[in-house]
Amino acid sequence: MLKNDMLEQWDRENFFHPSTHLAGFARGEVPQRVVTGGQGCHIEDREGNRLLDAFAGLYCVNVGYGRQDIAEAISEQAKELAYYHSYVGHGTEASITLSKMILDRAPEGMSKVYFGLGGSDANETNVKLIWYYNNILGRPEKKKIISRWRGYHGSGLVTGSLTGLELFHKKFDLPLAQVIHTDAPYYYRRPNLDMSEEAFTAYCASELEALIEREGPDTIAAFIGEPVLGTGGIVPPPAGYWEAIQAVLKKHDILLIADEVVTGFGRLGSMFGSTHYGIEPDIITIAKGLTSAYAPLSGSIVGDKVWKVLEQGTDENGPIGHGWTYSAHPIGAAAGVANLKLIDELNLVQNAGETGAYLNKVMAEAVGGHANVGEVRGEGMLCAVELVKDRDSRTFFDAADKVGPSIAAALLDQGIIARAMPQGDIIGFAPPFCLTRDEADEIACKTAKAIAKVLG
Ligand code: PLP
Repeated sequence: MLKNDMLEQWDRENFFHPSTHLAGFARGEVPQRVVTGGQGCHIEDREGNRLLDAFAGLYCVNVGYGRQDIAEAISEQAKELAYYHSYVGHGTEASITLSKMILDRAPEGMSKVYFGLGGSDANETNVKLIWYYNNILGRPEKKKIISRWRGYHGSGLVTGSLTGLELFHKKFDLPLAQVIHTDAPYYYRRPNLDMSEEAFTAYCASELEALIEREGPDTIAAFIGEPVLGTGGIVPPPAGYWEAIQAVLKKHDILLIADEVVTGFGRLGSMFGSTHYGIEPDIITIAKGLTSAYAPLSGSIVGDKVWKVLEQGTDENGPIGHGWTYSAHPIGAAAGVANLKLIDELNLVQNAGETGAYLNKVMAEAVGGHANVGEVRGEGMLCAVELVKDRDSRTFFDAADKVGPSIAAALLDQGIIARAMPQGDIIGFAPPFCLTRDEADEIACKTAKAIAKVLG
């Protein structure tokens, strides 16, 4: 297969790539890369390039590439039992064990795990469960979901609506009417430079409350947020943010979904972002780090309060009308069990916290003094560098200048994969948790060179 010299042509002719300029790709203008292997923090391609993947795929290959333990667990499961469904009480040793392992690691107050395949479908499940919940409670009007601008929750119909990034709405007739957005907790882009972090937190909470009052609290079912904004720019929350937001939600009896697709299973240096920030969610979304992407698997961890009502609902209405053929797929579940074991055995959550802090430190030292670097920020094994035209006024570059993508391309020329985040000139880093300090130094040093190459 790898020797097939038609592969590049077939790719251009047949393959519909997600998040890609389709016409440009078909015309051969957008570069292609056929990835052939991976080991640790590196991937290899068909051209023989070896690249340091400082974004862990799409912040998902948390344990790093080439882990034989997980590959073997997948292989054994496939040989023993590749598939059986999980409807009406069926399960496998892997799926039942994994649900126990997840709840053992989850924050307090969580009750059950529903398994899906990816983060988008897990958030679709969450919204459906919350609508069902309010119908069972006799509150059919309480259905709207509040998300934040710059939040990312997937690209389905409901989840693309929850996502607060223009690219995911434009020309798709999104967002749907049941989804509304509030301010991003983005201190660097605060409305007034004189605002302290605490004042900005109070501002975010009061904007949320004003939105709830305008819409009517009896129409708002839930609020969804990532503990740290991810695809919207890798933005940790300002001091006290989650405490202030939760106070508003509690006051109006609004459920909280913590979307931990990126932060779940260690990326912040804590097992969950919820415990890291004192969030007490009603539902937690998990995906990516659950299997380190060795197989597709996601989950909705349902808290006690929602679970009780779901049980009541089935007593009143019969079995819950929700399920996918591949819910709790045994191969995904086997990958999840092996992955979570490996994270514990190798102490990778601790390494994500410690080496992540080191990466943030060396990045700030390497690029923080550049006239066009507005901010270096991060938490755990997440780091971002935001580029601005003018540091004092925090003015954006013109999007047409493609500053972010050019810097990411200049990093790639030096063998480093980083991500130009989709909105603004923000270079994102989310390496595997097994990153070493030498690799962190290399990423920081090459980022400085890439910025100098593009901006002088
Ligand atoms: N939620 C968050 C926080 C994400 O970052 C993502 C994907 O990046 C999703 C949901 C959607 O997950 P998927 O792409 O697996 O559908």
